Amino acid sequence: MPPHSDLPLLERYRDLLAHLDETFAISLGEGATSLIHARRLGAELGLDRLYLKFEGTNPTGSFKDRGMVLAVNRAVAGGAEAVICASTGNTSASAAAYAAAAGIPCFVVLPAGKVARGKLAQALAAGARLVAVEGNFDDALEAVRQIGETGDAAVVNSVNPDRLEGQQTGAFEIVDALGSAPDAVALPVGNAGNITAYWAGFSRYADAGKTDGRRPRMLGFQADGAAPIVHGAPVAAPETVATAIRIGNPASWAGAVAARDESGGLIESVSDEAILAMQSRIARTEGIFCEPASAAGVAGVARLASEGRLHRSEVVVCILTGHGLKDPDIVVPDAAALTVPPDASAIREAMRR
Ligand SMILES: *Cc1c(COP(=O)(O)O)cnc(C)c1O
Repeated sequence: MPPHSDLPLLERYRDLLAHLDETFAISLGEGATSLIHARRLGAELGLDRLYLKFEGTNPTGSFKDRGMVLAVNRAVAGGAEAVICASTGNTSASAAAYAAAAGIPCFVVLPAGKVARGKLAQALAAGARLVAVEGNFDDALEAVRQIGETGDAAVVNSVNPDRLEGQQTGAFEIVDALGSAPDAVALPVGNAGNITAYWAGFSRYADAGKTDGRRPRMLGFQADGAAPIVHGAPVAAPETVATAIRIGNPASWAGAVAARDESGGLIESVSDEAILAMQSRIARTEGIFCEPASAAGVAGVARLASEGRLHRSEVVVCILTGHGLKDPDIVVPDAAALTVPPDASAIREAMRR
């Protein structure tokens, strides 16, 4: 029997997460996200058993909440009086919410002008104190790490091991939902914490005897303009529409390479055009609106399927890492609707176009 999904995430998987003997005061109802059988998209791609794990239904709309709940609880238990993070957006939205619930300040260091508006709105709404830097995410993270060393605030980026510890729960939930590990798991790779955490999660679940011992191939996808792991060297000026994976020097680089190699998987890149086309295709075929970065993994799976590198009967799970509402500017054109007089015949006329 899988653990009961009504329990807070950290209680549900308490026995699997590194010796949790504390109690956790703060929960926003994270985790327990849906694993959706994507029948229509799967049929188009030639995959009968394609599943989408929609992390957009987490409390702040991305998977970041799975690790942030543990990081902030631990920071508070350890006496931290503030938290700080560098962020491409979702980390700050999550940190701000959990810090608010804990009643401590949250400081956010952002790359100026490169964060999606919905994510900024979330951090501001929760009272986070924002500092924009004239640099990219990698520069922001380096500065935050230095501030963390002074002890002024607890760093809740994924360099904090509690983040990746909590993110393993995504893997546990997939095995619980399917009854065994899938053949392959695809996800976008930015700072590479999530692919590292998923692989650790599948391994830990297998070692704990919760599965038949099988583990999936890990399929990671970067954006063409921000693909350091694919090229084997940092990218000084990463560029992509998928701001959540606009990272040139991933903090968990080694973890991602280990996940790829130990699982017999791969890390490749996809174009911004393929990412945006797949974001819209997922919404139009399955009704699920994810953010651009989330579509990178599915775009990669589409290519592998078309090249015969995935087989029709394989169980393939794509992690849709965040909600599309976070970045509405990407999809809403200035004149999205035809404007007509408010009468039935004019509207009927417009419906025919
Ligand atoms: C953080 C994030 C990613 C990238 O995850 P990493 O752990 O940094 O590789 C991808 N998609 C979304 C929506 C994110 O918030």
